[in-house]
Order: sequence, then structure tokens, then C-alpha cells
Amino acid sequence: MAEFISSKTITKRKPDSCIWCGEPIARGESCLEVVSAEDGEIGTCYWHPECDDACQKMMQRDRTWGEPFEPYEFARGTNLCKHDYRIMQQQQPNEAKNP
Ligand SMILES: [Zn+2]
Repeated sequence: MAEFISSKTITKRKPDSCIWCGEPIARGESCLEVVSAEDGEIGTCYWHPECDDACQKMMQRDRTWGEPFEPYEFARGTNLCKHDYRIMQQQQPNEAKNP
């Protein structure tokens, strides 16, 4: 299990992708930088603020703190995987856009 080390809000100097949704984080955009260790290896990942929010809510709801999730699998700013999100958008296009 990954061990949390630190997190802080930074302004990105070089483009990267968000660990939650896989969408790009542009240069100059502010994002959350999270450092953690797994099996003795230090890893850094980046989050859109709204994706961090969605993740916190999901883990609170499901009580899954610290459990691994599938990177890049979620729709940006939501706790729905991209597949479910697409179906929801097809069913309720307006609600999916403005949850
Ligand atoms: Zn994201």
C-alpha cells in the first residue's frame, strides 16, 4: 500500500497528466502535487484540484482511504469512471455537465 508523504498546491512548470482523469495539466495551471512511497520508491503524482476533491469525497463515502485506485480511469472532477460517465452523459446530458 502506498504511504502518503506530502501534498501541496503548486503551479505546474511543465505539463503533466492528472493521475485521476489522465487529462493534461497545462503549464502555469495550479494543481496538487502528492508525494508518496511504495515499496521503497518515492513517487510524485499530480491532481487537478477538482479531481482531488472528487477522490476525497469518494473515499470518504466508501471508506477506502489509502486504497489503490485505477489511475486515469475517472472522468475529470467526478468519482465516476469514464465508462459510467459517458453513459450518464448520454442519459442526462445536462446534469452530467453541471452536477
Ligand atoms: Zn484530473
